[in-house]
Order: sequence, then structure tokens, then C-alpha cells
Amino acid sequence: MVNDNGDCKKWGFSANNEIESASGLTVRGVLNTLKNATNPEDERLTIPLGHGDPSAFPSFITAQVAEDAIVDSLRSSKFNGYSSTVGILPARRSIAEYLSRDLPYKLSPDDVFLTIGCTQAIEIAMMVFARPGANILLPRPGFPYYEACAGYRKLEYRHFDLSPDKGWEVDLEAVEALADENTVGMVIINPGNPCGSVYTYEHLKKVAETAKKLGILVIADEVYGHLTFGSNPFIPMGVFGSIAPVLTLGSISKRWMVPGWRIGWLVASDPNGVFKETKIVDSIISCLNISGDPATFIQAAIPQILEKTTDDFFNNAITILRNSAEFVYDQIKDIDCITCPHKPEGSMFVMVKFNSTLLEDINDDTEFCLQLAKEESLVILPGIAVGLKNWLRISFAVEPTSLQDGLLRLKAFCQRHAKK
Ligand SMILES: *Cc1c(COP(=O)(O)O)cnc(C)c1O
Repeated sequence: MVNDNGDCKKWGFSANNEIESASGLTVRGVLNTLKNATNPEDERLTIPLGHGDPSAFPSFITAQVAEDAIVDSLRSSKFNGYSSTVGILPARRSIAEYLSRDLPYKLSPDDVFLTIGCTQAIEIAMMVFARPGANILLPRPGFPYYEACAGYRKLEYRHFDLSPDKGWEVDLEAVEALADENTVGMVIINPGNPCGSVYTYEHLKKVAETAKKLGILVIADEVYGHLTFGSNPFIPMGVFGSIAPVLTLGSISKRWMVPGWRIGWLVASDPNGVFKETKIVDSIISCLNISGDPATFIQAAIPQILEKTTDDFFNNAITILRNSAEFVYDQIKDIDCITCPHKPEGSMFVMVKFNSTLLEDINDDTEFCLQLAKEESLVILPGIAVGLKNWLRISFAVEPTSLQDGLLRLKAFCQRHAKK
């Protein structure tokens, strides 16, 4: 029987549809909820320690040469047309050169595919490996966009744990135990979101050796590449591409602090040519043929951005991030219900453990963050949003004065709710 609304049951959304549940899983979805929970009558500005976009803060304005590159590209009137679906050659070439600086072999422009930020690189990677019965191994805690993309494409995912007591290294025994003959690959995020970890050469080599043993590839999310400020330098996973094939994902969003420019890359860091041989490269090209491209004039600005940005810009950002990371780490020590197992050494985040038993009336991380948003206009991400219940992810890439203010509010909140 057709009701008054016609046959809408065929296409209307049921309460539990997959798009809604996938988007509820994302960091953005959770942060929107928290932002909406802040009290409009609080005259203080909301302090956003929940997300990783420092671009609005004066201390993190991008390099002038990067802005000039966009202006020059636009003004040339040469880049008003569609680009090729894999990206324009000068941009692919310059990304190949930029990444090859840190590799023991040279990437070719043909190994590089331009994407709409690292986000689309993740989408394409999940699309390429989604086939009936296949599974992929994801880190926990991690970046929930992987789960959302894999789930949406019906690619099964399984979680391996990162160990907080070992600098959030991958539990490689767990990886071996999880993998089976249908496992296609494992994801690592280095420098780490949400943990602020930076893996050593030795650990990354072990990751590659484990992947080789299991016959799987490594998807290396290096969107925070070079944003390191501890004792471990950034080592790209591609260094070990001859042990196991590596798909490197990245963008200029974080290192240049321009996530709104929406340009990134997906790169076959695979000196043995396994991806070509197994037609993975063809599959990437097919996926790009049926998806959108980054704006052509932004692509065309890439060579100037990558070649002309000076170390002054990078060093300045690193110095601020290092000081901010130290500041948060020190302040947390004074808060009883929060502990930090590992001082952040990279990216823009720290994961801290939350002990609800020390508080009067708050039972878990979600309640904590909601109440914090309401009472203090302070937004922090509940760990559950990145896969770890009763942890919190704090972003320290904000203006240092806001960070100080934010930590004061956090302390006041925890004291007010502490068991007497
Ligand atoms: C921010 C982020 C991305 C997305 O990067 P964009 O270039 O902004 O699309 C991907 N992976 C991780 C781990 C991130 O933190």
C-alpha cells in the first residue's frame, strides 16, 4: 500500500542508515556535537583543543611564499581548465622530488597521484582494496576516517593496538595474530594522530618485515610528515619500500597549515614495482577517473610551494609546537584525574588517560567532554572517537595564549568535580 508520501520507503533513510552511522564515527561529527553543547551565555570564547586546524591562529599563518604561489598560479590564467585525473605533471614531478629527498631511491612522477587532501587519498586507498572477503588492519587508537571509508565500501577492518607504554608503537604480535590469507594491508600513521608519537627507524623496519612475512602492503599516512620535535627524526615508511610495498598518503594541509587548500597525494613507494605488476596502479587510476580532482590552480602552485618554502617557516612552527607540547605535558602532571603515558614528539596531539573514579559525577570520557564544553566552553575530543574509551585527545596547535587559558579551564573543571 502506498501512503500519502508515495513510495518513500524505497529511498528514504531509516534511523540507522550507514551514512549517518559512518559520519557519527568521524572526529568532525563528534566535535560538532561538543561545539553545540557549549553554553551560549558563557561570555568567554570557546577554546578548540579538539581539532587539528591551527590555520586561524596568528602563530600558525602559512608561509608567504605559499600564498604567493597560489596567487601567481591563479593570475597566470593557465590553470582554469580541468586537470588530468591523476594530477598535472609539474605537480606530480615536484612531489616525487620532494619525497625522494628522504628516500634511498628516486620516485617517478608516475608513482604520484594528486588527491583532494590526504582525506581523498584515504578514500582511494580503501576503494582500491575493497573486494569481497578482504580485510585490512587498522591502528587503535587511530583516525576514524579509515573505519568510515572501509565500512562504507564493505571492506572488513580489524584493529591492532598501539602500546602507550612503548611510545605507542605497533603491537606487531597482535598484527600477526589478526592477519589471515584475506588480509591485504595494514595502516600506520606516523607521526601519529591521535598519539603524537614518532616511530624509530628500527620500529618502522620491523613493521615492514612483519608486512613482508604476512604478504601484505603498508599504507603509511604521513600527513604529519616532518612535524616532529622530539628525539626521533621523521623517517618515511617508503624507506622500507623494498622490504614491503608502501602506499604513502600525505598532503600540505598540516606541515603548511593550510587544510582548506585541499591538496594531497597518494604515492606508490615501491621500488620493486609490485603495485604495477599486481595492477594496483591501474586500479588507482580507475578510481581517480570516477572521483573529483583538486582545483587545477592549486595543483599548479605545488612546485613553488614545495621548492620555495624556507626552513625559517618550518622551524618556527616546530618551535611553537615543541613548547606547546611541553607546556601541556607539564600542566597535565598537576591534574589528578588525567595522566599522560608518553610525551608527544610529533603531530599536534597528545593522548591522555582519564580516570573517572576520581570524579564525583562523571562516568566516562564522553560525559567528561560534554560537561567540559558546557561549563568551560572548552572542546576536547573524547578518546572513544578515536577508538579508546576513557582517554582524551588534546590538540596543542592553537595560539599559545589560548592553550594556557584552556589548561586553566581544564584544571578548574577537574578540581570542581573531584571527589572530596
Ligand atoms: C588531518 C588528517 C588527514 C586528512 O588530511 P587532509 O589533507 O586535510 O585531507 C588524514 N589523516 C590523518 C591522520 C589526519 O590527521
